[in-house]
Amino acid sequence: MDVTQKLSVLADAAKYDASCASSGTTARNARELGGLGSTTGSGICHSYTPDGRCVSLLKVLLTNFCIYDCLYCINRASSEVRRARFTPDEVVRLTLDFYKRNYIEGLFLSSGIIRNPDYTMEQVVAVARKLRVEHRFHGYIHLKTIPEASQALIDEAGRYADRISINIELPTAADLARLAPEKNGERIEGAMGAIRERIDAAKDERKTSPKAPPFAPGGQSTQMIVGATPATDTDILRRAGGLYQRRGLRRVYYSAFSPIPDASSKLPLIAPPLVREHRLYQADWLLRFYGFGVDELTTAAEPNLDLQLDPKLAWALRHREHFPVNLNTAPRPLLLRVPGLGVKTVDNILSARRWHPVRLHDLLRLKVPVKKAMPFIETPDHRPGLHELEDPALRARFVPPPRQLDLFADAAPAPRPVPAPAPVAPPPSPEF
Ligand code: SF4
Repeated sequence: MDVTQKLSVLADAAKYDASCASSGTTARNARELGGLGSTTGSGICHSYTPDGRCVSLLKVLLTNFCIYDCLYCINRASSEVRRARFTPDEVVRLTLDFYKRNYIEGLFLSSGIIRNPDYTMEQVVAVARKLRVEHRFHGYIHLKTIPEASQALIDEAGRYADRISINIELPTAADLARLAPEKNGERIEGAMGAIRERIDAAKDERKTSPKAPPFAPGGQSTQMIVGATPATDTDILRRAGGLYQRRGLRRVYYSAFSPIPDASSKLPLIAPPLVREHRLYQADWLLRFYGFGVDELTTAAEPNLDLQLDPKLAWALRHREHFPVNLNTAPRPLLLRVPGLGVKTVDNILSARRWHPVRLHDLLRLKVPVKKAMPFIETPDHRPGLHELEDPALRARFVPPPRQLDLFADAAPAPRPVPAPAPVAPPPSPEF
């Protein structure tokens, strides 16, 4: 198999893994440092996955051979997919060639597990080492790491990569035992904990000595598959919340499961709605930037997020006793809970109200979705009607109108090809 054929197999196998984004790393520019590549700047070409996401990294697997048999994965040992394997030098050459042609801004490298975790990790690290040391490549590198690999190899990966990640895969230990019995949630979290320590130590060192080597300056991320098991959104968000708090993760990515060919009977036959994944991203944003707690976003009676409303609006409708919020006197944490007010908008309101009372037309200038916010806010020129907030029909105002089904539309969407991990929708804007 030549390199082009390998690329078509291995890029296809990796293209849906969206647990990569070149944000949050340190700025490096070849024009200042010599060598090649930058983590910032223009001239970046993008590629698009079939579901419309824009990516600008060469996302590729070193190999799609794997000794593990995770049931949700197209590359599992028992799968009958076409297999291919790159050598480290081939990946290096492809990265440099694509970079020079301005196709990509960096590399996202993952791999199935061949022989054993250490052997696989050595190959992955060899690619990053060659790029950074031999070719002085300053572009973005994201490496997937293997929790069972030796700490020395993970440490080396962190020295070369901007971001490293280990996939948590499924939200509960029971889910892992059922679908990926070779994986162990505790071991995965243990490896994440060790990576966090290295990241923190490197940050501390750089405070005293700016020339100290960085360790994964873009932090670590993970990905969770949604809808492959009956785990609820509460389970998923609890797991994500725990990872942010205990392991200091930069991002958790949610990836809606898609049915795969010759799948095990333990897997569902249909994919969850993609909007579920979108709601999880929104809820994730609320956890990280809006001060919400995991248990506020779902309830014991409704352990899944409302698919019709964004989670902040759904929370506001469940907690109408907190509203209306006076935009000119309320503290920041309360303003952040108002539907339609994003973090930037809240900061703009806080600075504007030092000079004059904030009125409705100020919100229009700030491009606030006023219709959404109005029942929940109070300004000098607006106060919601006495019964508006108590009106049981208030929810209906925000629910999208029902759509007439097309008689001639396909009964079900065509199955998507599913490499591992499954596709994810782009994260939502933080402003909602
Ligand atoms: S998820 Fe990873 S470890 Fe599991 S079968 Fe797929 S490639 Fe192998």
